[in-house]
Amino acid sequence: TLAAEINETSPEKLLAPVLSAFWDQEKSWTLDVYRRHEGYEGLRKALAMEPDDLIAYVKESGLRGRGGAGFPTGMKWQFIPQGDGKPHYLVVNADESEPGTCKDIPLLFANPHSLIEGIVIACYAIRSSHAFIYLRGEVVPVLRRLHEAVREAYAAGYLGKNVLGSGLDLELTVHAGAGAYICGEETALLDSLEGRRGQPRLRPPFPAVAGLYACPTVVNNVESIASVPAILQRGKDWFTSMGSEKSPGFTLYSLSGHVASPGQYEAPLGITLRQLLDMSGGMRPGHRLKFWTPGGSSTPMFTDEHLDVPLDYEGVGAAGSMLGTKALQCFDETTCVVRAVTRWTEFYAHESCGKCTPCREGTYWLVQLLRDIEAGKGVMADLDKLNDIADNINGKSFCALGDGAASPIFSSLQYFRAEYEEHITGRGCPFDPAKSTLWA
Ligand code: NAD
Ligand code: SF4
Repeated sequence: TLAAEINETSPEKLLAPVLSAFWDQEKSWTLDVYRRHEGYEGLRKALAMEPDDLIAYVKESGLRGRGGAGFPTGMKWQFIPQGDGKPHYLVVNADESEPGTCKDIPLLFANPHSLIEGIVIACYAIRSSHAFIYLRGEVVPVLRRLHEAVREAYAAGYLGKNVLGSGLDLELTVHAGAGAYICGEETALLDSLEGRRGQPRLRPPFPAVAGLYACPTVVNNVESIASVPAILQRGKDWFTSMGSEKSPGFTLYSLSGHVASPGQYEAPLGITLRQLLDMSGGMRPGHRLKFWTPGGSSTPMFTDEHLDVPLDYEGVGAAGSMLGTKALQCFDETTCVVRAVTRWTEFYAHESCGKCTPCREGTYWLVQLLRDIEAGKGVMADLDKLNDIADNINGKSFCALGDGAASPIFSSLQYFRAEYEEHITGRGCPFDPAKSTLWA
């Protein structure tokens, strides 16, 4: 595999293929191939434990949510009240839509059984007998493959009545969403799953207390749940031997944009973009890095000064951004930052659900100002206005979409104010779009 080849030439063995270990093998998505790679062995170990001990074990592994926020997974499971007489649900958030984020979809396409095994383990731990996967509806090939994997798992006794003789009865439903970014927000996702228009709910109560059908619900990202079987199979000490004390383990980094080899790179948390670029062939030939996102467009952008920031929750946070979804979108010197930010902001304005005024109105105003500046019709006062509007969205909106929309405005003005000014004084964009491969 690419990882093995890279590791051969890199003495530090920086890549740690676990979830992606056999993606390149023929029919990697089938139960047969999964079983040949220790598939469903973690489940056997989990079922031999008491549910509470299992939760404690996952908590001690230090696994943190891979959907973006990094909330400790074991702690989330522990929030589910026991003996409350209510049904408990596990809902897997597979509505991956953050710009640049493209890890869960390839994972589901190439290795869906790692998610299904993780689901059975999690449901046993939180005492749930019904789990849901909420998938982006547009990715029809993934939907078909997931349905097939679920069918295989039922036939093999990993789902259904009395899973592997453990006494656990478990139903798994795959639900296809209709392609709204906001339905990736966990409470909007729950509304959508219940058959309503997807709009965020007030939190608290968090889903752990009142989630699907007002019952205690764990909402976890695909990669978080798919990482659990390996932790059970290989042990929490193996997991904590990678990464840092507060951000242990391995994760999928999605390298995209003007790089020589875009793709998924599975590595211990704390690796740097410089290391990932060194291993993967760097930027496209003849070009250099200008700006990048550590975790999708909702996380403040970085520049070439941040190449050595450790890509874990603490490292990225200390440098002024967020690890988010680890979507490393890299842009070279041919890219107009104003144009990139305009594109992202158009996305947020389009996807704003309209529930709260700062986001609904603010994203619209931001787009008008940015389009004017990009077209050479801006004035200097627009730059303060952009900051002011972003400031009135950030922290004042109902959900994280608003904060995400403000992020690229703040960070691009922080690092590239001169480029905005150049658009205004030069009455137009100084970049030739034909030179950038991204804006075809
Ligand atoms: P959050 O920090 O508010 O919550 C994270 C998780 O922890 C949630 O599941 C929440 O229910 C739980 N939680 C937090 N406090 C809790 C408490 N006191 N009790 C019980 N549970 C608690 O983050 P968020 O608003 O859910 O998500 C924002 C993140 O989503 C951003 O970091 C962003 O990177 C990410 N994101 C990802 C995508 C994607 O496509 N994967 C898209 C957009 C945003
Ligand atoms: Fe809807 Fe935006 Fe408000 Fe979130 S911040 S509730 S997406 S309008």
